[in-house]
This record gives sequence, C-alpha cells and structure tokens, in this order.
Amino acid sequence: IPRNPSPTLRNPEEWCRSFNYFISQCLIKDFEARPSVTHLLEHPFIKQAQGKDVALQQQLAALILEQQEAGCKTKTKSSLNLPLTESLDVVPALFTPECETIISHLQKRYDELQVYTYVGDILIALNPFQNLSIYSPQFSKLYHGMKRADNPPHIFATADAAYRGMVTFCKDQCIIISGESGAGKTESAHLIVQHLTFLGKANNRTLREKILQVNPLVEAFGNACTAINDNSSRFGKYLEMKFTPTGAVIGAKISEYLLEKSRVIKQATGEKNFHIFYYIYAGLYHQDKLKTYSLPDRTPPRYIDSQHRTVMQDIVSSKLYKEQFDAIQEGFRNIGFTEEEVNSVYRILSAILNTGNIEFASITTQHQTDKSEVPNAEALETAASLLSIGPEELQEALTSQCVVTRGETIIRTNTVDKAADVRDAMSKALYGRLFSWIVNRINSLLHAAESGMNVGILDIFGFENFKKNSFEQLCINIANEQIQFYFNQHIFALEQMEYQSEGVDASLVEYEDNRPILDMFLQKPMGLLSLMDEESRFPQATDQTLVDKFEDNLRCKYFWIPKRVELCFGIQHYAGKVMYNVNGFLEKNRDTLPADIVVVLRTSENKLLQQLFSSPLTKTGRLRQLSMKNIEMKTIVDTMEMMRHPEETTSMRRQTVASYFRYSLMDLLSKMVVGQPHFVRCIKPNDDRQALRFCKERVMVQLRYTGILETVNIRRQGYSHRITFEEFVNRYYYLAFRAHQMPETSRENAVAILQRAKLEGWVLGTTKVFLRYYHVEQLNLLLREV
Ligand code: ATP
Ligand code: MG
Repeated sequence: IPRNPSPTLRNPEEWCRSFNYFISQCLIKDFEARPSVTHLLEHPFIKQAQGKDVALQQQLAALILEQQEAGCKTKTKSSLNLPLTESLDVVPALFTPECETIISHLQKRYDELQVYTYVGDILIALNPFQNLSIYSPQFSKLYHGMKRADNPPHIFATADAAYRGMVTFCKDQCIIISGESGAGKTESAHLIVQHLTFLGKANNRTLREKILQVNPLVEAFGNACTAINDNSSRFGKYLEMKFTPTGAVIGAKISEYLLEKSRVIKQATGEKNFHIFYYIYAGLYHQDKLKTYSLPDRTPPRYIDSQHRTVMQDIVSSKLYKEQFDAIQEGFRNIGFTEEEVNSVYRILSAILNTGNIEFASITTQHQTDKSEVPNAEALETAASLLSIGPEELQEALTSQCVVTRGETIIRTNTVDKAADVRDAMSKALYGRLFSWIVNRINSLLHAAESGMNVGILDIFGFENFKKNSFEQLCINIANEQIQFYFNQHIFALEQMEYQSEGVDASLVEYEDNRPILDMFLQKPMGLLSLMDEESRFPQATDQTLVDKFEDNLRCKYFWIPKRVELCFGIQHYAGKVMYNVNGFLEKNRDTLPADIVVVLRTSENKLLQQLFSSPLTKTGRLRQLSMKNIEMKTIVDTMEMMRHPEETTSMRRQTVASYFRYSLMDLLSKMVVGQPHFVRCIKPNDDRQALRFCKERVMVQLRYTGILETVNIRRQGYSHRITFEEFVNRYYYLAFRAHQMPETSRENAVAILQRAKLEGWVLGTTKVFLRYYHVEQLNLLLREV
C-alpha cells in the first residue's frame, strides 16, 4: 500500500482508487500525515477525476477546508481544552431502543452543559437557558471544515456541514429548525447565521455586518413577549444566505410567513404587543421626540395596554427597550434605509397607536339609529395627520361604508361595533403591510447581483396548544404538520423507498405518517381549509354553520366535534390533541379591509403609505418552477400540487387568509425541496425557563412527537449505511485482496470482503450492500490494522 499515491500506477481510475484508500487512511490517522492539497490538485489524474469521482471530490473538499485552517487547528483545540464527549452517533453502544436510555444520556450530557447531541443526521439542541461560552469566533474556527466526529456536537457543525455541502456539490442547502415555542429555534438560527457569515467571509465586511443585523431588525417587528417566551417569534422566517460558488457571501433574502397581525390590536393576559412599539417609546423619549411623532404620552395607548396595567414611566425608562431601539436605529442605517424611510416607519407605528385610541359612540338622529361618531376627535386627528390624510375622510371611512347595489351607490352607516372592527382592521392592515415592506426593502438592499447558491434557514413558529386555541393556532399547527411531513419524507420515506427499490425488507422502517392529517386540511374541495373558504364566501354564514359544515364533511379519525363544548372541534395532530375554538374563524379568515379605508389611505401624501396601499392586497409573484428530476421528491410535490390553486399563481387579488396561507406554504416548500436538508430539533428541557433543570417527561414527549425516537429505533434496527458494490469494493478491497490485485467491483467481491471481515447481519440489495450502524466502525477498525 503506497504511503502516498504513486503516480506510476497504470491509469486514472486505478490511481484514484488507491488515492481514495490512502485518504481514508490518513483521515483516520494524524492530521500531519495528510498530503498537501495544492500539490494534489496539480496532479493530472486528479484533474481528470474531478467532477466524475464523487468520493474523491468529497475527500478533497474535506482536505482543502481542513488545510485552510491548518496550523491553528491543533493549537485551538488544546487551548480550549474541550472534553470530546461522545454523541449518540459516535458511540454505537448507546443505541438502545428504550427511550429511557436516550433520555438518561441526554440528561447526563445536559448536566455537563453538553446541550447538543446527534441522532443520525439530526442535531438535537437542548435549550440551556443560560449563556454558554461556546459560540465565540474561536469556536467557529474549531468547527470550520471539520468532520463531525472531530469535535463535540454543535450547531456550528450543522452550519458547517451545510456550507461544505453547498461548496462541494454546488447544491442549495436548507437547515430546518423546529421545536416548541421557547425551545431555542430563533437563537439557533442566529448562531447558524453567525457561523455562516464567518465562513463566507470574503472581503466584504460591511455585507457581513448587514446580514448579522437583519435578524434583530426583523424580529423587533415580528417578535413579542408571550406567556411562554419573552422573545417569541410571531411569524415564520426563511432566511436565504447567498454565496458565490467558492463560498463567499454575496447577499441575503428573507421570506416571512403568517405574521400574527391580531396581536397589534389585542393581546392575551400577560402578553405584550410587538417589541417595536415599546422600543420606540423608550428610544424616542430619550431623544425627546415623543411629541415629534405624536406618541400619546400620558397613559399607554390602548393597543399596548388594553387592561391598564402598565405605567408609562416603566416603558419610557426601560434601559433594555432603549438599547434595543438604538440597535434598531443602527440596523436600519447600516442596512441602507434612508432617514426619510425610517421616519415614515415611526410615523406609521405612531399612527397605529393613535388609531387604536379612536373611540366610537352611537348617535341617534330622527332618521337613523345605527350611526356612530368619534367623541375623541384628538386621537382621530393625530392619526390622520400622521398618515397624511384628511381627518374627515378618515372618520367617514371608519363610520360608514359605500355599498353598490344594482348599479346604485348607497352609503350605509356603521354601528359602534362595526366601526371599531373597521378601525382594528385598518390597524392590522397597516402593520402587516409595513412589516412586509420592511422585509422587501431589506431584500432589495441585500440583493445579490450575481447568481450563486443558497443556504436557507427556516425558523418557523413551533407547534402551539393553549387553553384556548383559535384560527392563528390552526394555521401555525398546519404549517408544523407540513414541516413534519417533509421531515418524515426525508428521514423515513426515502429510506423506505430505497429498501424497496433494492428488494430489501422495508418493514424495519415503520413510522407514523402524518399525510392523512395533512390531506384532511389541504385537500380540494373537501379539505378543512377549502370548506372554510367556501363558508367565508357566504355573507350569512356564522361560526356555527362553519362547525356544522366541518361535521358534515370531514370524516376522518383525526377530526372530532366534542359533545358538550359549543363551537369547538378537535384535531389529533402529530404532536398531540388540540381543541380549537371556532369563535371568529370566519371573520379572521376573511380578513376584510373595507374598500373605503383603502381608498382613503391611497390619498395619503406619505410616499411609503402610498406604496403600501398601491399594491394588491397580498403578494404576487410566481412560484419557482421545480424541476423534479428526483423522483423521491414526488410525494412532497404531490402535496404541493394539492395546495395549488389555479388562480393563485397568476392573480392574488381578493383572497382569504386560508388560501394565502396555502400559497405561502407551497412557496416555502418549493424553496425547501430544491435544497439538501439538515434538521435541527430544539427541545425545551423544562417549562420554567430554568438553567440545568431537566424534566424527563417533557423531553420524552418532545422526542416522541418529533419522530426522534423513531429515528433512533430505525437506525438501530435498520441499515444505516448503504453503499454501492462498486464503492464498497473500492473502499475495502484491501481487507480481502492484495493491493495490486484490483478486483472487479462486483457483488461477489463485496460478499467476499464482508465474509473475510467476519461481519454479521448485513444484507445485499440489487446494487448496494446494506450495513448496520456498527459495521462501518468495525470495517474502519480492520482497515487500520491492515
Ligand atoms: P418561539 O417559537 O416562541 O419563537 P423559539 O424556539 O424561537 O420560540 P427562542 O426565542 O430561540 O425560542 O429561545 C427562547 C429563549 O431561550 C431565549 O430567549 C434564550 O433566553 C434561551 N435560549 C435559547 N437557546 C439558547 C442558547 N443556545 N443559549 C442560551 N440561551 C438560549
Ligand atoms: Mg422564535
């Protein structure tokens, strides 16, 4: 066996085969023993084999990345004095089906502040609920270009694998982060962005800084304090970082999903409005500009304190809010927003708060009873002035509506309740559109001029199950159901398909398929969302008629109507049973913004506002065309087709929240399926946000419903490694043949090697050897002894 690949071997294939073996040997051995990449890349045979021999390419990429960091590697590692603790994957003996063992293992690691663990290809991240010192640039260096087994499990290793996958295989990657509210998804997403900006450093420092500021900026507008999490994401976010083929970062793009707009007008007890409302109070107070923006400063506006529990002084004097405001200001400036734009943003935010303070009282005239007026003209005038519209026009649009019947235009007056609904609908629309505008503006400022490849990071709201669950929870949980389906497809279904196509017994790969539940939601025309849309079209429909419609049409074991609770239905989600309260479902789904309001807002002299209301009610845009060469992805594409609505791709005019939601989900999937996925499962070890408290039951439930336990079982019982006969013979022929023999890469020779290595429990497919998780360890040990 040559210590170095000998250039005298007869042909490129032979040479590469020898080279591959050599590399796999030295990847096991010392770092110093590895050859210089610069030297290797010049070799004519390597040049010929590049692009044809995937294994070789992979080995080379690993070497390149590693040698870029050479020198500091050994030093950094020892100076950090890291305990190289085992992961589930590295120590096979820990693979037992009993979840007790897994949980004890996780607990032991958690007690030692080892919060990351691999299960197969999935990274489990336990929330430490305390700051750990493992995210410094030194750690980014440590994980840069390393193989997984070289370091303890870490979120940087996942980011690194995605980056390497993108550079090596020229393929988009996506990192899917999931978990309950408060489990640590958003923090994980930040850490991934941090490591990716470190990797894609190039020489554009400003761009790196801009990208790092995107998340905090968007989160100021999209996150809020909830009963579960002080920084809960109230929208789904897919951040794509764009790189050149050599891995330099060149841009970024965010897609936002399902902002919980209802929070603008009302929050549950103990919860708050979006962070930005508090930040502007504290920030502008310190700049003595509350008056400039006409922010009500005597008592907190109704929208941020409907129950009169907050004292204004507490908000304006909050150090944290002020610091956050300064960071947001800086973020706006660095990313490239103009002063005029930022000014308009604050004006609109203040307008929303003033709008919330507009009250209505009923007036009875001789002819009409159902009429309302605004007793507090000040709030109305301030809101109108901030929006640069006429106060009379605004009042008119809030208290009456134009109805066209049989060609005639009639003015109908609004009752007090109706006027309040119109006011709140306007505030929600203003905030929702402002949020989308900020996201779009960031996208155009960080747009990459050249084409390149992406690493996408999905941080979507976790599964929710509260005491009272409404329309918002339904949408969030359907999105999670879809992500779980995508996960299942990747982890189990593809595995199953491979077993079947190779003629190997697939019963070892059994898992809980959530497709039937997804079908129940998304199918046309009888799925839950379609039924809801149909009912939303009838003006006379009520929440009761909606429940009746569900009851009559949804025949599925995952759906039921409880006997003694009114206006409710239950769903058996993959993550547990949830009871939904239908109150307000139809209204929320219609999400109507009266045309009169749109007309008034369009008259605004504020450029930003004109822009917000000049476009149709929702986004347009073509979904990206999918080239589905990969048949395995077909199942996912099937579900997407199911969601496709003929008019959705072309015109997105008047539509319900449900149909827009369906479109968003499809858009998200279309982005994800083109990339190579990496999964991060965040787990919340306790509900009290306490460091070092590990609640076994809570962890077990999360492991079970996210499919982690199934993954462990399948990896234990199934065949975690599947290698083609050719690759297998090339890799291991030294175990049964002499180096110069160059045996044929046949099934028979693969068997000969397996028998010679005295392995048990493997099976043969039609083109591949199916090995158990411990076989590869055993083979590598034998190789070392040759
Ligand atoms: P939601 O679905 O509500 O948005 P989430 O899964 O995004 O929840 P995060 O906001 O990321 O949850 O995390 C909740 C809190 O947990 C953070 O504010 C932080 O205090 C803590 N936390 C999470 N991950 C880490 C970490 N790696 N290190 C330290 N603290 C963390
Ligand atoms: Mg979050």
